[in-house]
Amino acid sequence: MHQQIRGRYAPSPTGRLHLGNARTALLSWLDIRLRRGVYIMRVEDVDSQRSRPEYEARMLDDLRWLGLDWDEGPDVGGNYGPYRQSACHERYRQALAKLDTFACTCTRKDLAQAPRSHTGEVIYPGYCRQAPCNPDRGSAIRWRVPPGQVGFCDRFAGTVIEDVARDTGDIILRRRDRDWAYQLAVVVDDGAMAITDVLRGADLLASTPRQLHLARALGLPEPSYAHVPLILGEDGRKLSKSHRAPDLSALREAGIPAPRVVARLAQSVGLVDTSVHELTAPQLVETCRQRWGDEGLKQLEQRIVSWDSWGG
Ligand SMILES: [Zn+2]
Repeated sequence: MHQQIRGRYAPSPTGRLHLGNARTALLSWLDIRLRRGVYIMRVEDVDSQRSRPEYEARMLDDLRWLGLDWDEGPDVGGNYGPYRQSACHERYRQALAKLDTFACTCTRKDLAQAPRSHTGEVIYPGYCRQAPCNPDRGSAIRWRVPPGQVGFCDRFAGTVIEDVARDTGDIILRRRDRDWAYQLAVVVDDGAMAITDVLRGADLLASTPRQLHLARALGLPEPSYAHVPLILGEDGRKLSKSHRAPDLSALREAGIPAPRVVARLAQSVGLVDTSVHELTAPQLVETCRQRWGDEGLKQLEQRIVSWDSWGG
């Protein structure tokens, strides 16, 4: 039988959606709508200090304004809930119990001399593997990462292979402050929600091998991955605060029509040309379907677009 395609967007409600978030959301929605799959909205509020319900409400509202819709989510329900990570403790606890873990009392300071990966992340040197270095301190929980290479083929980034034990070391699954780590939550949730296709920003490509390693250790099915380029500013660098590009809420409040935002975002990855000034999200689906049929997004071009002028 044909497997049901299931994809998701998983924002963290810790602020407003900038244009990069909006573009990734639009592309993940577009890919699933092209393939006639089920689209899921999952709120990644696992960080209890930074997450706020008012940010969640604004994000979902702004995404709807942009023209996105979802078949399952915290505000529409579905059979694979809960759709907020803050309600999934039991799910994470059960996953943790299946893994070989140890308590780690290392602080940031303890790890200051540890080796680092090419992305600047600490490669955990295993200080607490035999016994916690400092039993009087609160501890995080780490997974004793099994050795071996982890490989996968990304739809946009190609083949990625990593030896997670060597290049990352033992991974934190539960933080010292008792919050669940993102890496555990995302893997467990994708499994629990039967996600088949993950389309997300290229900034998460580097953490994909460890997520796959974890999924395999937990016996979860592996989704297919597609990491899309990060949005660029006019100088060709990754769009950041210094570019002063408006966030999605600001555009909406300024009275910019959503189809103009969709057209600009679609232009920036080469889905439509610069003669298109307004396009609704469903029109974008139809445009791409004429090009690629039901097979989903095939290629994206990184184009330089001006984000500071929204007239005309
Ligand atoms: Zn440690």
